[in-house]
Amino acid sequence: MVKTTTSPPKRSKTDAPLAGVPEATRKQLDRLGLVTNFDLVLHLPLRYEDETRLVRLRDTLPGQVAQIEVEVVDTEVQFRPKRTLVCRTRDGNEELYLRFFNFYGSQIKQLAAGARLRVMGEVRHGFFGAEIVHPRYRVLRGGEALPDSLTPVYPTTAGLVQAVLRRLIGRALVAADLSDTLPHDLMAGLRLAGFAESVRFLHNPTPDAALSELQERTHPAWRRIKFDELLAQQLSMRLHYRKRRSAQAPALVGTRKLSAKLQAALPFQLTRAQAKTLAQIRNDLAQPHPMQRLLQGDVGSGKTIVAALAALQAVESGTQVAVMAPTEILAEQHYAKFSAWLVPLGIEIAWLTGSLSRKEKREATARVASGQAHVVVGTHALFQDEIAFHKLGLAIVDEQHRFGVHQRLALRLKGTNAADGVQPHQLMMSATPIPRTLAMSFYADLDVSVIDELPPGRTEVVTKLVSDARRDEVTERVRGACMGGRQAYWVCPLIEDNTVAGPDAVTGGRGKGRSPRRGTTEALQLQTAIETFETVKQTFPELAVGLVHGRLASGEKAAVMEAFKAGAIQLLVATTVIEVGVDVPNASLMVIEHAERMGLSQLHQLRGRVGRGADASVCILLYQSPLSDTARERLRIVYESTDGFEIARQDLRIRGPGELLGARQSGVPMLRFADLEADAELLVVARTVAEDLLQSDPAHAQMHLQRWMGLRQEFLRV
Ligand code: ADP
Ligand code: MG
Repeated sequence: MVKTTTSPPKRSKTDAPLAGVPEATRKQLDRLGLVTNFDLVLHLPLRYEDETRLVRLRDTLPGQVAQIEVEVVDTEVQFRPKRTLVCRTRDGNEELYLRFFNFYGSQIKQLAAGARLRVMGEVRHGFFGAEIVHPRYRVLRGGEALPDSLTPVYPTTAGLVQAVLRRLIGRALVAADLSDTLPHDLMAGLRLAGFAESVRFLHNPTPDAALSELQERTHPAWRRIKFDELLAQQLSMRLHYRKRRSAQAPALVGTRKLSAKLQAALPFQLTRAQAKTLAQIRNDLAQPHPMQRLLQGDVGSGKTIVAALAALQAVESGTQVAVMAPTEILAEQHYAKFSAWLVPLGIEIAWLTGSLSRKEKREATARVASGQAHVVVGTHALFQDEIAFHKLGLAIVDEQHRFGVHQRLALRLKGTNAADGVQPHQLMMSATPIPRTLAMSFYADLDVSVIDELPPGRTEVVTKLVSDARRDEVTERVRGACMGGRQAYWVCPLIEDNTVAGPDAVTGGRGKGRSPRRGTTEALQLQTAIETFETVKQTFPELAVGLVHGRLASGEKAAVMEAFKAGAIQLLVATTVIEVGVDVPNASLMVIEHAERMGLSQLHQLRGRVGRGADASVCILLYQSPLSDTARERLRIVYESTDGFEIARQDLRIRGPGELLGARQSGVPMLRFADLEADAELLVVARTVAEDLLQSDPAHAQMHLQRWMGLRQEFLRV
């Protein structure tokens, strides 16, 4: 068996912090995250310059980046139009002007008449003939050979020049242990290049290397680095998974008595996909090790009933079940559904949120602690200190990506028996479909079940894109629908404070720009919600209009939702609090204002609130022109597709994995070199290899992990 290292792994000698580097340089390296020789080895070039060959000036084309040897004719400082050092040079009979706008006095001496230079830069043919502005150059003393490999250009930081980085990396390539962590037969089988030769090549590629393969990272050397990275990620996730699976949990075999009763009482049959996922969950629950399963299914695919049937198996086995949702509205709905389904079977359900009165809370807490309540539904209030379970067997977490790693951990710890370390099973649910590659990499520590079909009889939601200029038509449509006995949502814009990190701001940088000002955002949203509510009321004096938003007291929120469900409210103005889980089948029309500001997944989730009943449903996306390119693309995608997986895949493509991973990000090592979409095939291979290595060659697995994860392994204790 392989041990998971929880203490920092020992650093080998070559992996020790850099020796003999001046303090100032060390600080600069620190800023780049470069602490050890091995860090330097993996600090790979951004691009390359070809200094391996010379061209004659007369053979250069305008705009070509060229390396030329010239002789200085004269050098002078000109003052018009601005202070410039102009060096006139000659290659044979041709003249080349070198121009410097920033220069040192010493350069004038250096560039004295007769000096021979090797210059590199973009040759332009200007008014006075050929010139290079700010060339890189070196003064030749005679006999300097051309380099025999391409010159790497590294990502760097202010004050740290390329030459220093190159020298340090060159030293690191000698000092670090580059021996292979993969068994030879494996490398041969997968046609993988050796590790040492790959990194050496990437730092100093031979001039015949296909530059395009290097830039596009498809070169075999790149393939090796990416594979190693993916393998390390897989190894650590799988080890993590194994470690948790080796913990103890109550084997919840169940009797099927209660679940058979519930299934008989349901007005519908489980879909094939629901039955399949339920069987997987049932099987897990019966094991004496904690289940870690993610139940995925598009909006409306019917995850809740699957969760309820799983809960029954736990209750039949004499344990309690906790059901946790990220918002009060959603928790209330679960409470209502679980009550309707389970109370007739004689099961007691407790309700726990932050907004309970002290007395209600005390009562609920007591019922949970005594075991009188079999199931407890609530928000994150469930894992507060004063809550103690009698015997928690299963924790169900809905919309799991909205909770941080730490919150889920807290719930698990809460249910863990201090005396014997027995842990509860965990079922996580998510309606944000996770693209396959993402599931395979960042969720490799979980088992995943997918409900991949919708219950029969759903009507496809028709999506319409309407410019704000045609708002009147939309108004008429809403009026018509509501007067005809149907109900509608009017969703207010989610103002993500565009100046900080609107959806557009996020698209540029691989999804790193999470809105840092949630408070401001919320306040703005509240303000727009109230304003919209006032406008909508005036526009539709004949309709019963309601308002729901995140800042309402939970009693008020519940009352509004109840009234909407009962039909007493015809038109519900809502913020994106209704994004998750809200289920009102008679609502068949949704208007989303400022749809151009919303993210893809969010639009899809919102749209999923309609199309739940028999009526043909419509979702109108109101947008404000002019649209930015990314906004236009997002709208096109939701317009063209209602398939959550396709939308998620596009979302991944546009924003990168950071956003989709959300809170999970903090606990999972991110990828630096591999790209989930482009390297999907390599990922599949890495996954299989990880399993094989852990089984048959744990020593290599450990070596590989140690090299790649280093101290980062600490993250994985969650
Ligand atoms: P989600 O997966 O988005 O959480 P829900 O569990 O809220 O979906 O289910 C959506 C609706 O579909 C609910 O009203 C639920 O009762 C209903 N439903 C679930 N399963 C089926 C089924 N097999 N046949 C018909 N309706 C179903
Ligand atoms: Mg749901």
